[in-house]
Amino acid sequence: MPELPEIEVLVRHLRPLLRGKIIRGVDVRRAKVLSPTAPRKFRRVLTGAKFTGLSRRGKYLRFQLRSKNAASPVILLGHLGMTGRMFLARKNERRPKHAAVIFDLGGKNFIYEDTRYFGRLTLDATAIQKLGPEPLSDDFQPAQFHLALRPSRQAIKIKLLDQKLVAGIGNIYASEALFRARLSPKLAANRLTLAQVKRLWRAIRGVLAEAIAGGSTVPLNFGAGKASGLFYFGRAPAAPDFFEERLRVYDRAGRPCPACRRPIQRLVQAARSTFYCPHCQRA
Ligand SMILES: [Zn+2]
Repeated sequence: MPELPEIEVLVRHLRPLLRGKIIRGVDVRRAKVLSPTAPRKFRRVLTGAKFTGLSRRGKYLRFQLRSKNAASPVILLGHLGMTGRMFLARKNERRPKHAAVIFDLGGKNFIYEDTRYFGRLTLDATAIQKLGPEPLSDDFQPAQFHLALRPSRQAIKIKLLDQKLVAGIGNIYASEALFRARLSPKLAANRLTLAQVKRLWRAIRGVLAEAIAGGSTVPLNFGAGKASGLFYFGRAPAAPDFFEERLRVYDRAGRPCPACRRPIQRLVQAARSTFYCPHCQRA
């Protein structure tokens, strides 16, 4: 499942490809992904609209458009869910079976595909109002982070997945950040000292910034060639194992800890896997 770094990489890839493009037609194949926006409204607002900007907030893609049918700029919010992909494809390419929405941009189509339809592409942007601070921005500070953890007795690993606490962290980077901060994933959130919170704050920023710089943790497949513009998430059959190269504990149960060589362990917390080193993460 894509997290903040993967979405950031996708946003940087799509931004120049979409800028200035006009939507000539909107084909909604799965109305569920637009919810709560009705397909009629979606088509009416977006047909003829021009892409003017694209940014990221947490794990959301925030498309900005200008539309003759709306006075103010239109915000289109995208979320890839578990299996969503967004990419541009030539008009003559076969349309993917699970395409949920297809925008006709003239020479190319901009496609949102989702095999499980857990993602979103909607004109309702209220979801981003509930998000916590962006972890790589100045809005995310150790003192406030410490205060925000105070009321919670939840295990810190589970708490880090709460998008209201800090936006964009998922299962992969929660495990990685806790390992780098040398904190046990089982530690109650309200038990962290300010010094521990500072370590965690630094670790979160470090793992996310590194992942963005590395391109993406989740292997990316550019299709037949980079020029095709095809870009999506999901492991390609021949893709190198990026997990091994970039991640220190995630999905590495039984393998040696990079710091102490003792085996990494897997733990289930709130029905999700956590990977950690019990020796290095004792605090
Ligand atoms: Zn260790």
